[in-house]
Amino acid sequence: MDTSALKKVKALFLDMDGVLWTDKKEIGNLHQIFQSIRETGLTVLFGSNNATRTPEEYCEKLASFGVTVKPEQFFTSGIATVFQLHKDFPGRPRVYVFGSPSLKKLLSENNFEVVDENADLVLASLDRDINYDKISRAMIEICEHGAKFYATNTDSTFVTENGWRPGGGVMVRCVETCTGVKPFVIGKPNTVMIQMACETYELQPEEILAVGDRYETDIAGGLNFGAKTALVLSGYETAETAAILSPQPDLICRDLTELVNYFHEL
Ligand SMILES: [Mg+2]
Repeated sequence: MDTSALKKVKALFLDMDGVLWTDKKEIGNLHQIFQSIRETGLTVLFGSNNATRTPEEYCEKLASFGVTVKPEQFFTSGIATVFQLHKDFPGRPRVYVFGSPSLKKLLSENNFEVVDENADLVLASLDRDINYDKISRAMIEICEHGAKFYATNTDSTFVTENGWRPGGGVMVRCVETCTGVKPFVIGKPNTVMIQMACETYELQPEEILAVGDRYETDIAGGLNFGAKTALVLSGYETAETAAILSPQPDLICRDLTELVNYFHEL
């Protein structure tokens, strides 16, 4: 493995599902992995398309594995959505959320008015209580009231303890299908999250390593931004699917443990 691509890297931009854990089960020993990362001096940042949890909830989840991190290290599609929407809508925008209670809470806490009708924009994301009325309301807001359409991410699936399950992309496609409108997508492979991370931590694109288990989002997002990329085979992709990817990531590793070991060998 040619690890020369890692020499300029100062920060890891870690995807979480399929990299750190599979639902509630950690991948490797996270306490030891983060101890090992600390020894390399690398900054750790987290970037996930999953918008169903807040940074504080992720901090609690990592704490349950003996890892101490701060909310400022998280750039979820929810956080990036707040950043992007305040750029696009001045003041206190009215948003119809077709998504999780955590996402609604995040928006309410960040100067958005979460409404049931007459919205400036519709935001679609993973919603475990999806139903016909919600799809219908999103359609009415977009087609009859002129609301703009955004999506936190378009992931088709995500991994759980019991296997792969439908992702936020399913809700997004429901709205897209009935409206004929394509959303502005915040999550990877778009670069809103990684750009926000680099601006916040004053990093150049080549100084950040995008790490993820899914090529079409994590790696493609890194490539779109001009970052270095590492694919881990602990989640979505397998050695077989990884072999035929083009362009190839800078590194392909079994898991995060193996990736961190490369940094110790530089
Ligand atoms: Mg993932």
